[in-house]
Amino acid sequence: MTLRRPVIGLPTQTLHSIDGIPPALPESWVMNQRYFFATTVVGGVPWMIPLLEEDSATLREIYQRLDGILLPGGVDLDPRSYGEERHPRLGAVDQARDRVEMQLVRWAVEDLKPVLGLCRGAQIINVALGGTLYQDLEAQFPGALKHDYFPTAGFSRDYPAHEVTIAPGSRLLAVMERPRFMVNSMHHQGIRALAEGLVPSAVAPDGLIEGVEGPGEHFLIGVQWHPEMFEVVDPRTRQLFREFIVAAQDWRARAGPAQ
Ligand code: MN
Repeated sequence: MTLRRPVIGLPTQTLHSIDGIPPALPESWVMNQRYFFATTVVGGVPWMIPLLEEDSATLREIYQRLDGILLPGGVDLDPRSYGEERHPRLGAVDQARDRVEMQLVRWAVEDLKPVLGLCRGAQIINVALGGTLYQDLEAQFPGALKHDYFPTAGFSRDYPAHEVTIAPGSRLLAVMERPRFMVNSMHHQGIRALAEGLVPSAVAPDGLIEGVEGPGEHFLIGVQWHPEMFEVVDPRTRQLFREFIVAAQDWRARAGPAQ
C-alpha cells in the first residue's frame, strides 16, 4: 500500500492592509512561501490554516484532518497569553494567530501529533504549554547577544548571526548530527521560563534557549532560528524537515484515517 503524503497544517497570519488598498477593507490571512517549499520538497502537503479563533468547531475539524503542524515565524506574542502587561518595546502582535496556534499545539500534545515550530513557532510551543518569554531581549535579558538581525535593518535572512550548542541526547542532535553550528537570528523575543514538559535542545552563547523539544516519542520540536532559509543548501537542515514529515506519516499510520 502506498501511503498518502502527509498533510501539514500551516497557520496563517493576519495582514492588516495591502499596499494601495485601504485598511478599512476586510483583513487577509497570508504566509511566506518559503515554509510551503520547505514542506513540499520533503514530501509534505502544506495546507493553510485560517485563523478561525472564534469558530473552535471548524478549527477542530481542520486540525483532525492534519498529520502534522508547522508553526512559522512572525510577529511578537501578546504577553497577556502568559499573564504580563505589554513592555514598551513589544512589537506588533496578532492575537487571533496566537490563540489559534496555541490551541493547535495543545491539541497536538494531547494526541502526540507532530509539531515543528520555527522562531515564533518555538515561542508559541513554550507559551502554549505554560512558559513565558522575554518581550524584548535587549531590554530584559542582561548580557544578551544581538539577536535581531532583521531584514528590515539590511541583514539577509540567511545571515549567520551566532552559534548554537545542541544538547547531548536530544532529538535535534540526532537529526543535525553536529553539536554546534551557526544559525540566523531574526528575533527580539526569546524563551524566558521554559514550560514544564519541554526540554532545552539548543542554547546560544549568551545562554538563551534556542531549541526546545518534548520528551519521549512525541515529535515536538521548536527552534528559534529560521531553518527554512538553509534547507536548500544544508542536507542536515533538510533532514529536520524530512524527519518531521516522516513523523507525521507515522503518526497517521498509527492513528488511522482522519474521520
Ligand atoms: Mn538568536
